[in-house]
Amino acid sequence: MHQLLRQIPAIHELQQDQRFVQLLETSHVSKAKLTEWLQEAVAHVRKELLAGECSDENDPSRISNTIFQRLIERLSYHSTYKLRRVINGTGTVLHTNLGRARLSDRAIKQVMETAYSYSNLEYNLSEGKRGSRHELIEELVKEMTGAEAAMVVNNNAAAVYLVLKAFANGKNVIVSRGELVEIGGSFRVSSIMEESGAELIEVGTTNKTHFYDYENALTEDTAMIMKVHTSNFKIIGFTKEVSIAELQPLAQRHNVLLYEDLGSGALYDLRKDGIGDEPTVSEALKKGADLVTFSGDKLLGGPQAGIIAGKKKWIDRLKKHQLARVLRVDKMTLAALEATLKEYANEETVRETIPTLKAVLLTKEEIQSRIETFLHDLSPSWHRKIKHDVSQVGGGTMPEVTLDTSLLLLSNSNYTAQSLHNQLRQKEPAVVTRIIDDQIALDFRTIEEHEFADLHRCLKEFE
Ligand SMILES: *Cc1c(COP(=O)(O)O)cnc(C)c1O
Repeated sequence: MHQLLRQIPAIHELQQDQRFVQLLETSHVSKAKLTEWLQEAVAHVRKELLAGECSDENDPSRISNTIFQRLIERLSYHSTYKLRRVINGTGTVLHTNLGRARLSDRAIKQVMETAYSYSNLEYNLSEGKRGSRHELIEELVKEMTGAEAAMVVNNNAAAVYLVLKAFANGKNVIVSRGELVEIGGSFRVSSIMEESGAELIEVGTTNKTHFYDYENALTEDTAMIMKVHTSNFKIIGFTKEVSIAELQPLAQRHNVLLYEDLGSGALYDLRKDGIGDEPTVSEALKKGADLVTFSGDKLLGGPQAGIIAGKKKWIDRLKKHQLARVLRVDKMTLAALEATLKEYANEETVRETIPTLKAVLLTKEEIQSRIETFLHDLSPSWHRKIKHDVSQVGGGTMPEVTLDTSLLLLSNSNYTAQSLHNQLRQKEPAVVTRIIDDQIALDFRTIEEHEFADLHRCLKEFE
């Protein structure tokens, strides 16, 4: 055994090896780091020898081959990004697991520019003194929503938390039982409420809540009436909810805050295109909400962010709250959000420039024509079928809405659908598909033409 271990070359010898020299030249890794991984590789091979797992005992060159093989694997593990590009073949536009909204060209450009340079993030250029990052996009949010004031935090969950913490800590918040939602398994209105120190006062029942339920629950301890837009589920049938417009006079009379968590928060009215029933942010504010909160990366189609909009008196207090500093967004988010919001100044072009809206608005025929273009360059070895189906908006948004789509179903004789589905996920870029009737299914609602070449390349390996 000792004899065997003695055949492992010394580290300094391995460092002289042409393979090490070459790896050092071609990788972006320091000599110290590469040597550390070399030592790890040696230790591993030593362990294998001791365990009798190496069969090529008496061949020193085989031993060093194994060491370098391991070193290369380690290096390639290091060089591939953990956060990687994905081709989304699911058709779900706002896929929470796949990063929700993709940004507009303008937003991407603005992020790059802001990352590349210094910026006036907290510097007032006209006065030459310290400025506030809130001001950078406040005017735009006001413009697009009709709000008196606005601010931005990390995500909508943070926005909800900040509003509750700032205005209802130690006090009561009245919420309808029909609106106590859980979103994505990690955000529960009741839990966030508890965390904020506010006491949840549930009123009504799951399917019906009446005006008098709110009225009867109001006490001296009530700080707020909260409405939650139940965007990720729908109660149908015998239902009753009380609107913001109805609650407004009640809240005013009792001097309590009327707050609506809109979740998705649309700025573009998809109802005009016959899609869903999502109220716009300006509508919610017009109906009398003092404050609303919504996500930046759901229907808005921007970066992850939480936008708080409403009455100036409340927003001013939020901006000064200690937590505002904790939950603040970085310059790249603000850059992307500003560029995204600007697109909404044109009702027509926004349907094209915001990828989320574009994908939601794609017709079945447009998707079919994408498939036809894609099929031009697909090898005949693939069995193909086009199937009528539906795609989802996703992101907990408009659950009852199904968007007509065409799926491309692919299979070939070399691989099972399950194996294709699994292996495509390991490609660069990763391809996420579904399986339908022993075929992989690609919904081209979420696959754009600029991704075709990569998708073809990934599929080619299985022909
Ligand atoms: C999605 C959603 C949230 C959480 O928003 P994030 O931006 O994911 O933090 C909160 N409330 C409602 C109603 C939602 O739909």
